[in-house]
Amino acid sequence: MEKYGKIIIDAYYGYFNYLVDEIMYPSWTNYFWWLVGLSLAVWLLELLFPWRKDQPALRKDFWLDGFYMFFNFFLFSLIAYNAISNVAVEAFNDFLGLFGITNLVALEVSSWPRWAQFALLFVVADFIQWNVHRLLHRVPALWEFHKVHHSVEQMGFAAHLRFHWMETIVYKSAQYIPLAMIGFGLTDFFLVHIFATAIGHLNHANLRITYGPLKYLLNNPIMHIWHHAKTLPKGSYGVNYGLTLSIWDYLFGTAYIPHEGRDIPLGFDGVEKFPKTFWEQVTYPLRKKST
Ligand SMILES: [Zn+2]
Ligand SMILES: [Zn+2]
Repeated sequence: MEKYGKIIIDAYYGYFNYLVDEIMYPSWTNYFWWLVGLSLAVWLLELLFPWRKDQPALRKDFWLDGFYMFFNFFLFSLIAYNAISNVAVEAFNDFLGLFGITNLVALEVSSWPRWAQFALLFVVADFIQWNVHRLLHRVPALWEFHKVHHSVEQMGFAAHLRFHWMETIVYKSAQYIPLAMIGFGLTDFFLVHIFATAIGHLNHANLRITYGPLKYLLNNPIMHIWHHAKTLPKGSYGVNYGLTLSIWDYLFGTAYIPHEGRDIPLGFDGVEKFPKTFWEQVTYPLRKKST
């Protein structure tokens, strides 16, 4: 027990120092300044080449989403996630230790070239995320949390990171064991993470981009706007579940782009009554259960 207490304290202390360092010392391998830079770059593109020309530069919920961005990228880790996940990982390893298992590497990939290791990790992680995203739509209790992301009514880059912190827990838990089996402790995940952030920003941006034939591989704004459509095809729980890659939706028949959809209504039934502030939105699924 004492060991777990120390892990919790180290996690807070370590993450706080990490965050201060990130902000104070910009560098090319720095998440904080990459997030700021990517956001400004995509915002500038939106201002120069808007898809919906009458959408205000500071669209509806611009500042709310800006706050979500930093909360979900950094603050949630500081407040809780880092400590919880470090304890969970340690407890999980202790649990495996009970059976004499010390590592979960099932696939010998450490001799592969580094780019191939990353490519494998990226594709596997993205496929897991696609499946988790489907579950967020399919399972009613999870949908209550995912509604926060779908309460976006006007799309812009920052809508990308408007989501309930519970999603971080659900996604990361679902990824942990499969990635631990092939992930061989690969921590230098930086490029993959930045790439996914850039594509995610663009998916939500007020930009008319499809990447030409690459649209069958990469998710894009025209595909993702239909994911946010208020009206879904009859009998479906959702369409275009892809995060970074679009290929899974084409392979599994969930791709749906009936037309460009520039001005389609976004949200879900009853979105007008959905809470409008950060605090009300993150507590909404919890309050909803108790009533
Ligand atoms: Zn969704
Ligand atoms: Zn989205």
